[in-house]
Amino acid sequence: MSASVIDFVATEARFGAHNYEPIGVVLSRGEGVWVWDTEGNRYLDCLSAYSAVSQGHCHPKILAAMVEQAHRLTLTSRAFHNDQLAPFYEEIAALTGSHKVLPMNSGAEAVESAIKSVRKWGYEVKGVPDGQAEIIVCANNFHGRTLGIVGFSTDPDTRTHFGPFAPGFKIIPFGDATALAEAITPNTVAFLVEPIQGEAGVILPPAGYFAEVRELCTTNNVMLVLDEIQTGLGRTGKLLAEQHEGIEADVTLLGKALSGGFYPVSAVLSNNDVLGTLRPGQHGSTFGGNPLACAVARAALRVLTEEGMIENAARQGARFLEGLKDIRANTIREVRGRGLMLAVELHPEAGRARRYCEALQSKGILAKDTHEQTIRIAPPLVITSDEVDWALERLATTLTQDFS
Ligand SMILES: *Cc1c(COP(=O)(O)O)cnc(C)c1O
Repeated sequence: MSASVIDFVATEARFGAHNYEPIGVVLSRGEGVWVWDTEGNRYLDCLSAYSAVSQGHCHPKILAAMVEQAHRLTLTSRAFHNDQLAPFYEEIAALTGSHKVLPMNSGAEAVESAIKSVRKWGYEVKGVPDGQAEIIVCANNFHGRTLGIVGFSTDPDTRTHFGPFAPGFKIIPFGDATALAEAITPNTVAFLVEPIQGEAGVILPPAGYFAEVRELCTTNNVMLVLDEIQTGLGRTGKLLAEQHEGIEADVTLLGKALSGGFYPVSAVLSNNDVLGTLRPGQHGSTFGGNPLACAVARAALRVLTEEGMIENAARQGARFLEGLKDIRANTIREVRGRGLMLAVELHPEAGRARRYCEALQSKGILAKDTHEQTIRIAPPLVITSDEVDWALERLATTLTQDFS
């Protein structure tokens, strides 16, 4: 690392809370699938800010929409109407087939808002006695970092010494429909689950799991809340990951790529009267639904569909997965994924995934390790076949090295 890079890193370490452990690269520019560091080195971004930059870095049309809107009007609060919110509602509802929309900012806020809404629905529509609502979640979930959410995490790092936590959550294994059937009681209002567990290391559900989940939720009048903050908006090769399962959620959570990486925008989408229980004054957000966010989100959704990014994710994801499967390296335990949400899990003897990510960095690829043994690969959805092949060559040479 050069002196200037060491400076940036040291200054961050001196003043910043140490709640991240970044790879030693200082980025200063991005375009499409590529990012550049302060020295001018170019990297293929295989993280996409945890899938928030699915449309590619600094997409020109989202940028133009953002700049144009920033010149006109940025924030009104919801005390007044603005001329971007209604078209945003219309467009996202038409695209996803939802009836109601609640705009928020971060993904965690969308999750919190969904929890509040399904509880209220439970008391006011389902008839659960006040204060008794139960929500079922899965082990190894990741839904964000607020107190409400980390209280039902099973990851010790995420939870330890942040309690006491709110009651009302039951944890079951992911991918086990029998466990769900056994956990449901008359007080169960919702099952909150990721279609593919992202932060857990790209864990796919067993075939048929979600069809059974849908059936159980419908039979027991339990709201199925799918957290598609990471899987949604084309990442898995379909608009929503639920489409791979042939089901429809009652409540869908979107965030991350909803703004193409320009600005925090999230949304709760519902198919029924869950969001209808919220009355004026009962929930809100100063920035939620602001005109700048809506203009950015509208452009982010438009380019996603108009530029064929979802189809490209399916096509390039299949190519990438095939290529990963063809790599003969005894460091690899498993490769898995759907669309451009991919992971390479290493054998425990291969050494920490972090070492491989650092080796990839020196070859011009930025990827992120998760849970010691897994390298996740999630480039922007605009990646080309040539770029996939370029990445595969470098992954192959890196994964045949031994860092144990
Ligand atoms: C990233 C993520 C969140 C949290 O989003 P933030 O914007 O970081 O609050 C929630 N759920 C899933 C599945 C995520 O991947």
